[in-house]
Amino acid sequence: MRVLFVSSEVASLAKTGGLADVALALPKALHELGIEIAVVMPKYRAVNGKAEMAEVARFSVPIAGEEKECIAYQGTLPNSEVPIYFVSHDPYFDRPELYGEGSEYEDALERFAFFSRASLELCDALGWYPDIIHANDWHAALIPAYLADRVAPALGQPKTLLTIHNLGYQGVSAWDKAYVTELSPEALIPYQQGNRINLLKGGILGVDLINAVSPTYAKEILVEGAGLESELQARADSIFGVINGVDVDVWNPKTDAQLWATYDQSDLRGKAQNKKLLQQELGLNVDPSVPVFSVISRLADQKGFDIIMQAFDRMMEQGIQFVLLGTGAAEYEEFFTEAQGRYPGRVASMITFSEQWAHRIEASADVFLMPSHYEPCGLNQLYSLLYGTVPLVRATGGLKDTVFELDLLADTGNGFLFEERSAEAFLDTVSRAVDVYSHQPEAWNRMLKRGMSADLSWGSSAKQYQALYQRLMC
Ligand code: ADP
Repeated sequence: MRVLFVSSEVASLAKTGGLADVALALPKALHELGIEIAVVMPKYRAVNGKAEMAEVARFSVPIAGEEKECIAYQGTLPNSEVPIYFVSHDPYFDRPELYGEGSEYEDALERFAFFSRASLELCDALGWYPDIIHANDWHAALIPAYLADRVAPALGQPKTLLTIHNLGYQGVSAWDKAYVTELSPEALIPYQQGNRINLLKGGILGVDLINAVSPTYAKEILVEGAGLESELQARADSIFGVINGVDVDVWNPKTDAQLWATYDQSDLRGKAQNKKLLQQELGLNVDPSVPVFSVISRLADQKGFDIIMQAFDRMMEQGIQFVLLGTGAAEYEEFFTEAQGRYPGRVASMITFSEQWAHRIEASADVFLMPSHYEPCGLNQLYSLLYGTVPLVRATGGLKDTVFELDLLADTGNGFLFEERSAEAFLDTVSRAVDVYSHQPEAWNRMLKRGMSADLSWGSSAKQYQALYQRLMC
């Protein structure tokens, strides 16, 4: 079985969110199951210097009425034998950011039409013909349309799987720009949404199977589907909810080279040392008894920052410290920068993107907050569990599937959950967590070790993806 895995991001090469983590780990796990898989991504400026690669093909891709030259390079997915192809067209991808500076690049449709079509033409150029094309998110959602138009004739009609990592991002442009795709009017039909072209909509209607990254999210989107409910309902029988795993080569407190000290569940002294150094480095009062609450996130509405902001002062009244690592919406960046000034020694806001700090915070904090309004899968709660940092989350999507409320009597559970989208429900849960942390340290440690000992690796999810591929091949 041959699979082409098409992703706009791959961790350690170009990343803005969880898609990148999945695109690094899942192909590796599938390769280990014996599947012949190759990854393709755009050659962004961010990739330069991060991967060894050699030119393997040159071809032209018709976009927006012009022949655009594509130079394709081959490398290897970091820490693996999986081939990765980079499709380049410098005017599109040799830019400071992946998707936009301040606002989205205006030619998003052109860029990702190029990416989708070039990914298919690459197969023709290489003479490598996959049985399955595994497209990810809106960036690759034009693939079924290009297949319908047979732009790479020797490729035939491979089966298609679309993984939706976040329905909140659909790739929408004005309909009068649809011509840039160079698709036939018939192939474009599923993508039309009034006076707009919506890439994810057409992808949902056009692919053979869909995966929505957690069992709960796969159900939720039929009711709350960011405006695509009717399309999703029409495909309900073809939507699955295989949950993401963790790349334990990258996220493992026992081996993590980015930490000040490594540790495991049998010896948590390294975690205490990380906490102390985090407090020192970030100018927080060094005190092992104060619970450190943390957030690592895109600063986007989806993540529930309105709830954190409303609750912030009342949360701080509970005597905690708060650490945030994130970039995004200006109003949130300003709020947390200002909060650091208001709470000297107690709040540290790092308005930046740093993989190293993400690892250090996961290792050092006591609690990880994810009060998301919706969360397709969520990865940070999984990293938190493995790093002994207790997740406190809203019961939605993949959070609901992976975090289970602490039950002190039964001595079960790995974190704290709340249902209602409100500052009050969040604050109640914060109090529960602070209470157990302060008064029942043994119960806290048992909870934390339950999280650390869970098998959250990709093994079982990769097998479920393999089963989806097998279903496509029948
Ligand atoms: P999403 O994909 O919606 O952003 P996920 O929880 O699935 O959310 O994945 C987020 C990924 O991005 C995690 O690996 C997280 O550590 C990382 N991340 C988010 N913001 C930052 C940041 N400012 N610095 C470093 N890593 C970040």
